[in-house]
Amino acid sequence: MITAGRLLRGPAGDLVTGGAVLVAGGAIVAEGPRAEVAAEAAHDVPTLDFPTATMLPGLVNGHAHLAMDGGADPVASLLGSSPERLADDMARHAGQLLDCGVTTVRDLGDRGGLSVGLRDAIASGALPGPRVLAAIAPLTPPRGHCWFFGGEVADEARMRAMVRRNAAAGADVIKVMASGGHITPGAPRMWESQFTAGELAAIVAEADEFGLPVAAHAHGVESIERAISAGVSTIEHCTLLAGENRTELRPGLAEGMAGRGISACCTVGCDDWRREIAERGEEGARALYSRLTWLDRHGVTLVPGTDGGVHNARFDDFAGALELYEWLGFPAPRVIEMATVRAAAALGVDDVTGRIAPGLAADLLVVDGEPDHTLAALRAIRLVVAAGRVHRPGAVPGQEKSGSAILARFTSETWG
Ligand SMILES: [Zn+2]
Repeated sequence: MITAGRLLRGPAGDLVTGGAVLVAGGAIVAEGPRAEVAAEAAHDVPTLDFPTATMLPGLVNGHAHLAMDGGADPVASLLGSSPERLADDMARHAGQLLDCGVTTVRDLGDRGGLSVGLRDAIASGALPGPRVLAAIAPLTPPRGHCWFFGGEVADEARMRAMVRRNAAAGADVIKVMASGGHITPGAPRMWESQFTAGELAAIVAEADEFGLPVAAHAHGVESIERAISAGVSTIEHCTLLAGENRTELRPGLAEGMAGRGISACCTVGCDDWRREIAERGEEGARALYSRLTWLDRHGVTLVPGTDGGVHNARFDDFAGALELYEWLGFPAPRVIEMATVRAAAALGVDDVTGRIAPGLAADLLVVDGEPDHTLAALRAIRLVVAAGRVHRPGAVPGQEKSGSAILARFTSETWG
């Protein structure tokens, strides 16, 4: 049993003073006021008490690349590293995520399906880390955006085959690069579409055969509209670019997303938005991020994600990424709700995690202070519980050789 002075169950405003959570077999068995939970527990159940702290659901990072190093040239280092080195890096990144309270992360592009090995190593208890939802190789045209992840497809038959290949290798989600991006020399530009609406629809239909959601990387407003019409589950970045340095908040687009239950994972890391403020000033940065408030105003679910692993995108300050929303004027309880309940629903795992409720995984975070008043409190972590396993920040041992646990579960023989 874990007790805390304050218990935030996840939904904004859902606060229990003097709360407790009873955990057994990796799941939440009971939660609520301490006396009620204690009545359901064996009298000698081990108890961790945090009378001055707040307990809340573990956080969800909707978009990361654990195989990338977050350095100045993450693509070169991805392509130049041995599988052993990549696996060690992934294990370290997973530990960093857990250290900052992330208990679920979606990996939207790795190399060779290593993220499946990571997922299974963590699930088995061989490695500490968050639950991983793995996309493996994102679909992209030949030499298109992020072709180096291994998902190049030239026509619809190959698109469907790549979906089947990812599914067979254990993917939890299918990722498609609906537009260009900015880390692949020679590929289409960010606002240019890489797939037709019909092709995207075929990818969604094929993924649906395996019960898998589709995450569409889409910067361009045209590619976003195509992804909406195809019925993807989430739109990554959702930058709404209509040309170079030109965005377009197109009428009907946000309504279309909200109406079809399509969420936006706008991928802003802890350093990104602060750098934009430094470079553009407060006004300029607010204009840049106005798409987030615009989407929110139209009822689109925003899923916090960091794109951790790409250029200078770290894995060790998720609170810093959430603080963007606080700076934009979102009340802290709503941001917590976005990073827990709503993110879990958007990623299709709300029957597993995202709230403190009986039957869900024991994914918990205990912090000093009141994060529902100021998100900075999310950095004062006392305890993280991931699928019932207790983790104290900084307690991940030297992980130099921990990648072997990933490689041991790495079964895809088709990717090099
Ligand atoms: Zn990404």
